[in-house]
Amino acid sequence: MRDSAVDLCLIEDDPAQRHLAIRAIEGSGYRHIEAEDASSGFELIKAEHPKVVLCDYLLPGDTGMSLCSRVRSDAAVADTYFILMTAITDRNVQRQAWDCGVDDFLTKPIASDELLARVRVGLRMWTLQDRLRAAAITDGLTRVFNHDHFNRLLDREMSRARRYGRPLALIVLDIDFFKAVNDTFGHLAGNDVLEEVARILRDNARDTDAVGRIGGEEFALLLPESSAADARRVAERIQSALASGLNVPALGAHAVTASFGVADTDDPRVSTAAELVDLADRAMYGAKRRGRNQVICAADGADDEAHPESADATQIDMLRKRIAILNAFARDVYGQSISCLAQAVIEKDPYTARHCVNVAFYAAEVARQLGCASATVKSIGNAAMLHDVGKVGIPDRILMKRGPLTPLEQTIIAQVPHISTRIVENLRILEAEIAIIRHQREYFDGSGAPSALKGDQIPIGARVLLVADAFDAMTTDRVYRQRRGVDAAVAELRAGAGRQFDPRVVLALEQVLARDRAAWQARIDESVDLFQLPSLTVTAPAPT
Ligand code: GH3
Ligand code: MG
Ligand code: MG
Ligand code: MG
Repeated sequence: MRDSAVDLCLIEDDPAQRHLAIRAIEGSGYRHIEAEDASSGFELIKAEHPKVVLCDYLLPGDTGMSLCSRVRSDAAVADTYFILMTAITDRNVQRQAWDCGVDDFLTKPIASDELLARVRVGLRMWTLQDRLRAAAITDGLTRVFNHDHFNRLLDREMSRARRYGRPLALIVLDIDFFKAVNDTFGHLAGNDVLEEVARILRDNARDTDAVGRIGGEEFALLLPESSAADARRVAERIQSALASGLNVPALGAHAVTASFGVADTDDPRVSTAAELVDLADRAMYGAKRRGRNQVICAADGADDEAHPESADATQIDMLRKRIAILNAFARDVYGQSISCLAQAVIEKDPYTARHCVNVAFYAAEVARQLGCASATVKSIGNAAMLHDVGKVGIPDRILMKRGPLTPLEQTIIAQVPHISTRIVENLRILEAEIAIIRHQREYFDGSGAPSALKGDQIPIGARVLLVADAFDAMTTDRVYRQRRGVDAAVAELRAGAGRQFDPRVVLALEQVLARDRAAWQARIDESVDLFQLPSLTVTAPAPT
């Protein structure tokens, strides 16, 4: 709603009439101002924005009608409620007055109760109109400006900035992982988050700044007389306000973050409002790509196609975040968290997805053959499904490479178990799986990584996974090498038994093969339908 401290402006040159009107007005407590002629009356209206004007018909040097025309044609005061006071009852004059935009007449002599009644009508009309006006420019949920109005303000400020050569900055921000927030905590909690973010924006804006909701979970802050450097500081302040927590109890300990893009009119690429928005937007997407929860200025060169790996860093971050959120509701979403991870691998690399399905199958069979308890068999299967999830962090050009890897690329690939562990380690409920994934590259003779565990020190699941993993790798075609036959693969495993592999596990694999050779061969030969992942059977831990 607009602020107007003044209810009423009285414009009357006759002292006696003025006195009468004032007496009525003052008695009823309206805040009012007065003028005695048209031009000072107009100045007063422009300066004070009264809601209602009570104006005499005949004024020195002008008429109330022509003053009304001036008011109507000035956008800043056009919606003032205008009452003309006149002794003239000529219908033609009245008609002319309506044409000039007069809202109402008071015929002299004026009774004070009628004057007050008409003023009340005027104030009520003004208030209703003002509510409509406010509703038309305000976002219903967050009470900041809606997209349309924000754009109008942006256009206005943009032309002002250009005309006077003044600086103007824009911050665009998009809430990170908001879909996950909705999915996890519910749409209503999501709405509360939007309201809180809007509040923080308002709290950090000056009176001359404008805050708008320009998308579902996207906001913008327009800062006249500010440079990108100023705006960056504001954005950073908002970022830390978000970090110190929103007043949304449903979120628990989950901290909402946002990605910020900043641009200003100093940038040589900006000559229109649309270009300013575009630059800020691109900077915001740059912030997303670089891992979210940060402020990027357009001038920093946010078009970071120069950072091909940043997309992967983002993916890792995204998974960690998804898990952190899921963790809060672990009991309900236990199954979901695993399949959402498995999904991430499918999206990244179909070969890896198929590989994980195979390894999970082999590992579970071998574990069963070894006589593992059924809970252990399950966690070995799950760990096998997830052991390569860290590949989401490896650039495609390495994963998809034809031909041998350079030493550097090998080092990067060797990071996969570590990245996989980092991704799942937040998921406390997968404790058994995490241990298996962490130790998937420990060798039986103690020459492996990361802890150089030896023999029985290595979790049995990790020993099984190592064998199943190697077996599938050897029996599957890759772009850079042909697969080997089952017998050759087994011979290779046997050769590594005692050194790399646990001999008991290799033996168990041979036993399963001797029994189910045909089924295993069929699995090796057929291509697995990747989108028909077996549903993972897990026993959720007891609620804590
Ligand atoms: P990113 O970090 O990449 O921005 O991820 P994101 O999940 O925030 O992005 P995405 O654009 O996928 O999701 C935006 C979500 O915002 C999807 C939509 O359901 C939700 N959303 C949009 N408007 C509203 C709203 O008014 N209320 C609620 N609760 N959710 C909304
Ligand atoms: Mg007069
Ligand atoms: Mg968005
Ligand atoms: Mg978002």
